[in-house]
Amino acid sequence: MLQRQLSNGKWIDDSRTEEFISDAADHNATTTDDIIARLEAGKRVRYYSDWYANIRYKPAPRAPRPEPQMVKADCGHWVEEGQGMSASLGTSCARCYDRMSDGF
Ligand SMILES: [Zn+2]
Repeated sequence: MLQRQLSNGKWIDDSRTEEFISDAADHNATTTDDIIARLEAGKRVRYYSDWYANIRYKPAPRAPRPEPQMVKADCGHWVEEGQGMSASLGTSCARCYDRMSDGF
């Protein structure tokens, strides 16, 4: 997806990809292939003389953080998987670790 920059600095999606690439090629006195190569390299390209008249390819969204899996520890509380502590009486959350450990 192509995006173009607005005068407030924000980027918006724009479906007129070929039109903008053609304008950018004219503005930069180069070929559309060159413009496409620049866009594919992650660069922004000016298509008009205004400072904000830039186009770019929309950056790929960052992979969302996976939801942590919750598991029930032997102490009865839910803890994030891998965050449970191993006490002598079973797995526990951090707060119950002493209670779940032998010797009390
Ligand atoms: Zn607990």
